[in-house]
Amino acid sequence: MEENEVKKYDVVIIGAGLGGLTCGAILAKSGLKTLVIEQHSIPGGYCTSFKRNGFIFDAAVHFSEGLGERGRFYQILKELEVEKEIELHKIDPLYRVFFGDESFSIPADLNEYISMLSKKFPKEEKGISKLFNTIKGLKEEAEKLPNPLLIWDKIFVPLKFPLIFKYYKKTFAEMLADFIEDDKLRSIISSGWPYVGLPPSKVSATQMAGYLYSAHFEGHYYPKGGSQVLANILAKALKKYGGELQLGNKVTKILIENNKAMGVETAKGDKINAKYVVSNADARQTFLKMIEPGKLNSKFLNSLNQMGPSVSFFQVWLGVDMNPRDKGINEYEIFCYPSYDTDHIYDSCLQGKFELGCGINIPTLNDTTLAPDNKHIIGLIYPVPYTYNENWGTENGKKGSSYKKLKDEKMHQLIKTAERVIPELSKHIILSDAATPLTLERYTQNSEGAAYGWASTPDQSGTSRLQPETPVKNLYLAGHWTTSGGGTITVALSGRTTAEMIIKVHSKSPH
Ligand SMILES: Cc1cc2nc3c(=O)[nH]c(=O)nc-3n(C[C@H](O)[C@H](O)[C@H](O)COP(=O)(O)OP(=O)(O)OC[C@H]3O[C@@H](n4cnc5c(N)ncnc54)[C@H](O)[C@@H]3O)c2cc1C
Repeated sequence: MEENEVKKYDVVIIGAGLGGLTCGAILAKSGLKTLVIEQHSIPGGYCTSFKRNGFIFDAAVHFSEGLGERGRFYQILKELEVEKEIELHKIDPLYRVFFGDESFSIPADLNEYISMLSKKFPKEEKGISKLFNTIKGLKEEAEKLPNPLLIWDKIFVPLKFPLIFKYYKKTFAEMLADFIEDDKLRSIISSGWPYVGLPPSKVSATQMAGYLYSAHFEGHYYPKGGSQVLANILAKALKKYGGELQLGNKVTKILIENNKAMGVETAKGDKINAKYVVSNADARQTFLKMIEPGKLNSKFLNSLNQMGPSVSFFQVWLGVDMNPRDKGINEYEIFCYPSYDTDHIYDSCLQGKFELGCGINIPTLNDTTLAPDNKHIIGLIYPVPYTYNENWGTENGKKGSSYKKLKDEKMHQLIKTAERVIPELSKHIILSDAATPLTLERYTQNSEGAAYGWASTPDQSGTSRLQPETPVKNLYLAGHWTTSGGGTITVALSGRTTAEMIIKVHSKSPH
């Protein structure tokens, strides 16, 4: 398209994260003329990979849920007729978790997991089964919940959706207390909490139950060739159905007339008219930067300004000339916690105590094509805030020598922590790189490098989160800043929900 040309689309989507790509591909398949605009040079947002010296590193996402044949993400790929274009490794066991010196390997099979937990905690056997039945029940109710939830529907929630009604304002710790008595067992069941960004005492019960459903009922999968492959096949589906993907162009403005979205303007000066606009981008950027002041009502803006983003991560990528299996490491993913005290661990993360624990992932245990022969990839990850050490030692927003020094220091500290599980790791590093929350923000524009959109507290989850419909007519959201939060399967489902809403609205007034 020529620069500055006004072009008419049915839908323009801001951002080619998995939420934007899924939404775009479904809309294009329905026959709507769809354009996805992405500021980065590659599609995928957090679900991208980068190559260095023969290694393929995942930028952020290191597995996806629901890609097995009965999984919800697989169903979306199937509807888009691209499911055969991806080769998947099932991650089994899901992960190993260390609590100090004690460790557990978490099997992918739910029955195996329940019997493992029941053997270790025989008095809790019934509670464990009831908990997982409730998690399944919550997911089944959530699928039947009308979207949008109108006032009339809300009256029937207690009757028709009793589990959602019981737990939607509770934390996962409160939900766990209904079923499990032993504190250690509670910590084991919640040990995947970094995947939702908050410990059980702070995370919404429904949000954590959503994660546990997808992990234990649908499984974790790794696409052969790296996470980028997943984004690429969604981009391929978009194009297959006539949709367009424009890379390396940033949307700077959402055009609004009489409270109705009319299109977007980009940094290159293009003006693109569209009947519907979907933002897959960061919610603060969408409402506070891309929309002119005065176009949104103050009540909406006030509540937006009170919402807080999720945690971010410090990440380290290592290329190593050792085989982790020789050190007895067989799990793709490992959590190293110093103890069973989840709240203390989370507080330590906020304070940047990198010496206490870390997450480790070794994608080459599943996919040897990611590294040169006889080499492996080891990823280290640690939840940490953007504001750590005055925004990582930046000076007036600039990354100077103190930023670089701190980044390097933290990288070595995290490698040292990982050596508790992988002895002599530092002797085998042939390539290393690290990223702070500021790096995540720079590549994806997510405020404060938020890993999962808004923090998944009970008062920022479910209907209290931003909805796919916005106060501006024909402006929609898709992705982790809207319902139902972060994670690849969740944003793909969000993309689908938004696409279906637009298809429905458009069928009633196609012109
Ligand atoms: C370190 C890390 C590890 C994670 N690991 C996992 C994991 O293993 N499994 C999992 O399921 N989830 C994981 N997550 C969470 C998951 O990655 C996200 O919740 C999900 O990918 C978000 O998808 P999205 O489509 O909502 O947005 P994003 O991936 O943030 O994509 C938004 C896109 O919009 C683009 N954009 C923004 N502003 C503009 C603009 N103005 N103009 C044009 N384009 C714009 C961005 O460049 C980006 O491509 C992880 C997150 C992080 C940070």
